[in-house]
Amino acid sequence: SREALVQAQKMEAIGRLTGGVAHDFNNLLTVIRASADFLRRPNVPEEKRTRYVEAIAETAERAATLTGQLLAFARRQPLQPEVFDVCTRLRGLHRIIGSMIGSSVTIQNDLPETEHLVEADPTQFDTAILNMVINARDAMPRGGTIRIGARIVGGVPAVRGHAAASGAFVAVDISDDGTGMSPETLQKIFEPFFTTKPVDKGTGLGLSQVYGFAKQSRGEIDVASQLDVGTTFTLYLPSAAGQVTTVPASAAQLADVSN
Ligand code: ADP
Repeated sequence: SREALVQAQKMEAIGRLTGGVAHDFNNLLTVIRASADFLRRPNVPEEKRTRYVEAIAETAERAATLTGQLLAFARRQPLQPEVFDVCTRLRGLHRIIGSMIGSSVTIQNDLPETEHLVEADPTQFDTAILNMVINARDAMPRGGTIRIGARIVGGVPAVRGHAAASGAFVAVDISDDGTGMSPETLQKIFEPFFTTKPVDKGTGLGLSQVYGFAKQSRGEIDVASQLDVGTTFTLYLPSAAGQVTTVPASAAQLADVSN
């Protein structure tokens, strides 16, 4: 049955996830074990001693971060949805984004003045936006522009095999003119722990959060990317604006007018 299939896919994902973490964790343990073995030798020169002790401390720190993230991932808070205006919320993030991106990257806000209401968990929304902005920054080591926009659309296109959805959605676009991604990378970016960043920079959990948030909010996350050109992430959230006004006149109403 379909439910069994979904369950099996979940089990498989959990298997991949724990396998990945165990692998990363083992690599870290290998570094610690090898450093400790080295320090056990007699007459280790002082300067090497310092270096190996540092390596142990740093690697243990990294392992602690990894387990911490895993725990946070496992006991993710249930969402607490509220109705809020996406544009106001994004303007409110401007300062914190500014402090994160460094001086070579500029932020361009293309936010309309009109309300773009959604019903979603506002804290998770902030986290999702910041995760995408951090990725955009990291994709532009030599600087560039991050563009943040919001618009109202009449539906969500079919992405990654999910069915298209119709109805009013608020679409938030986050674009960069950075490195872009190869098709191979693009296929894996939403998997937990997939990262192309060095071990001290990436966890591979950013886009999993974005994906989980989008899905739990009955929305979608889409991405378009081209190597050496840039990337646009589009987060779709169901609009919470008075649906009545957006529903087109029914055939019966139209018939009334013609009478
Ligand atoms: P992390 O940022 O820790 O690597 P994410 O899940 O946020 O984890 O991202 C996974 C990977 O997706 C990144 O390592 C990177 O390869 C790719 N990626 C995400 N956003 C972008 C972007 N805007 N431009 C280029 N690559 C990106």
